[in-house]
Amino acid sequence: MTRLLIMGPPGAGKGTQAQLVADYFGIPAISTGDIFRANASEQTPLGIEAQRYMDAGDYVPDEVTNNMVQDRLSQPDAGNGFLLDGYPRTLAQVEFLDSVLADQNASLEHVIELVVDEEEIVARLLKRAAEEGRTDDSEEVIRNRLHVYQEQTAPLTAVYAERGLLLRVDGLGHVEEVAARVENAITANS
Ligand code: AMP
Repeated sequence: MTRLLIMGPPGAGKGTQAQLVADYFGIPAISTGDIFRANASEQTPLGIEAQRYMDAGDYVPDEVTNNMVQDRLSQPDAGNGFLLDGYPRTLAQVEFLDSVLADQNASLEHVIELVVDEEEIVARLLKRAAEEGRTDDSEEVIRNRLHVYQEQTAPLTAVYAERGLLLRVDGLGHVEEVAARVENAITANS
C-alpha cells in the first residue's frame, strides 16, 4: 500500500513526476489542478466556480477542494494507494486529509518535496504558458502563484518533516533523472 504526496512550487515539474512515479508504483496520480481544469473545460458547476480562482493564481476555497478530493479518494482505484499531486496546499487541507485517512484506518507513507530554484521556475512557467496557452500563466499570475505557494503551502513541508514523512528531492535535471531520484528516495525509506 503506497500513499504518497508530492509537493513543490508551481513549475517544479510536479505533474510530470507524479505521473512517472505513480506508474512506477502502480497507483493513480491524482492531481487536483487537473481535476479543476477538466471541470472548467466542461463548464461543470465546480469548474465554473474554480475557474476564477485559477485564472487569478489563487487557491480554490478549502471546502470545495476538500469535498472534491474526498470524493476522488473514495473511488475504487484509490483503494490500493495513490499519489496526490497539488493537494494538500493549506493547513486546513492537511487536517482534512488526516481525517479522511483516519476514517479509513490509513496513513501517508511519504511526502516528496521537489526542490527547485525560483528563477528556474519562473522561466519554466513562462515557457509552458507560451506552449500550452494556459490562462493562469501570465507573468503577473505566475508571481502571484509563487507568492501564494510560499505563504500558504511551503510551511506545510515542516509539518510533514516533523512527522518524519518528508523526502526532499532535487527537482533540477532531466525528467527521467528526477523521477529516478524520487523512486530511489521512496524505496530507500520504505
Ligand atoms: P496546479 O495544476 O496543481 O498548479 O493547480 C492549478 C490551480 O488549481 C491552482 O493554481 C489553484 O487555483 C487550483 N488548485 C489546485 N489544487 C488546489 C488545492 N489543493 N487547493 C486549492 N486550489 C487548488
